[in-house]
Amino acid sequence: MRVHPERPAVIDGDITLSYRAFYQRSRQLAGALEAMGLAPGEVVSTLGMNSRAMLEAHYGVPMAGGVLNAINARLDGASIAFIMSHAETRVLLFDRSLRHMVATALSLLASPAPVLVEIDDNAGNDDTSAHDGLAPHDYESLLAASSPCQPRVPADERDCIALNYTSGTTGNPKGVIYSHRGAYLNALSNTLTLKMDDQTVYLWTLPMFHCNGWTHTWAVTAAGGTHVCMRRVEPAQVLEMIHARGITHMAAAPIIMTMMLDRPEASTPLPHPVLLATGGASPNSAIIARMSALGFNVLHLYGMTETYGPSLVCQFQPEWATLTHEARARLQIRQGVGTFAIERVALKDPVTHEDVPADGQSLGHLMLRGNTIMQGYIKNPEATREAMGRGWLDTGDIAVMHEDGYIEIRDRAKDIIISGGESISSIEIEEIMMSHPAIREVAVIARPHDFWGETPHAFVVPVSEADRPDETELLHWCREHMAHFKVPRHVTFQTSLPRTSTGKLQKYALREQQKTMMAP
Ligand code: ADP
Repeated sequence: MRVHPERPAVIDGDITLSYRAFYQRSRQLAGALEAMGLAPGEVVSTLGMNSRAMLEAHYGVPMAGGVLNAINARLDGASIAFIMSHAETRVLLFDRSLRHMVATALSLLASPAPVLVEIDDNAGNDDTSAHDGLAPHDYESLLAASSPCQPRVPADERDCIALNYTSGTTGNPKGVIYSHRGAYLNALSNTLTLKMDDQTVYLWTLPMFHCNGWTHTWAVTAAGGTHVCMRRVEPAQVLEMIHARGITHMAAAPIIMTMMLDRPEASTPLPHPVLLATGGASPNSAIIARMSALGFNVLHLYGMTETYGPSLVCQFQPEWATLTHEARARLQIRQGVGTFAIERVALKDPVTHEDVPADGQSLGHLMLRGNTIMQGYIKNPEATREAMGRGWLDTGDIAVMHEDGYIEIRDRAKDIIISGGESISSIEIEEIMMSHPAIREVAVIARPHDFWGETPHAFVVPVSEADRPDETELLHWCREHMAHFKVPRHVTFQTSLPRTSTGKLQKYALREQQKTMMAP
């Protein structure tokens, strides 16, 4: 605010806020929260899509001494109720279009209801709102009536700034504690990793509710760049915004790249280079190569909620620039090396904790140490001990380390396929199968087998039903492209794959589907 008071900080539809206005509104939000009686350390939850109000919450809540808890807006009512009661939410800011979901969650809430604040998101009102019994404050009126507060400085840099719940694919979600110190360091690390500066125009294609948008909510501001909000990610609109708004940076799960490439507009090369940070799931080299050919500089990041988002980066080596898009993309699918914020990256045997050799073949658990590893799970000492009791965060991801020190993830511990005693990486099979021209998406899981223990089972989405290869032909192709023991024994064709709101494959849903398929 001091350096660029009149530069555009936030663009949200027709509204542009300068850094001066953005700072002022964040202070007004903090003032309003204080006036409601929010005490330092108390939780303010949000349930909303990417908007200026969500960004203001990332500043206004800490300014009031509160803890920000951005809830995934695509969760169901019961999960939202679980999170609010576990986090002891005092205030909930929500988008008007999600009001029905708030009403459902509140009806399931065992703890006292929070103070409600509704954000007019211009996304249409819910018909039932007049009868739902909720009487929220209006966000804009609240800001208008509030006196800006004097931003609080945390008493200790390790105080909590945010609480982010894991997606909870197994059991209840766990609340990851983010400190001011960790968030600051990871945001600055991102500013450097993504090479952001005051000319950066960042398009919000990543949900802000996912690890505080991988801490980009703070990183873009640290660089003095401009946030461009996008509530709903429509691939055609993303391409249009790149042209119209001069977007220089964006971040998205790999599936968003696939969706963009499906658009006819994607055949036109970009008017200027755009850095696209991708992560959250393994990207595929064929997709990266096509994106690069269009003019995107794809930067591959790896991270998890427990590491404030990005913790590894596939740092681009200058000599890769001379390679073909395809050859370069094969190097870029590796998750890479520790970011600036990470102290140490190791591949270890989960039991002995011995390092495994960096030979590109030996499998080990990816373990991390550093300032941007979570402090722990809130009110869950047991899970905290299990994840990081031995001084390293065990990510639960199985990887190899190449001789150049670059990590390549082969699977999540629970997704690895063990066939006749051999470990098979489902990601490796998916990567190869994706190079088949008739395949649009593929997910591979283990299928129980009497003799081998497990064998690979591929779920395939064809590019078009008309050009769908038949199973025998596809398996024959697989045998020519991978070791025989890795070739899937079963193929199921379908029109889509189950994914989480952040674009990750829901392999557990495929396992359920497989169970039903195999039931006698
Ligand atoms: P959850 O663990 O509940 O799925 P997260 O969003 O924290 O929620 O996901 C972290 C996991 O996502 C990692 O442990 C890893 O398995 C996967 N992941 C993240 N980034 C990548 C990547 N670049 N490549 C492969 N897997 C990734």
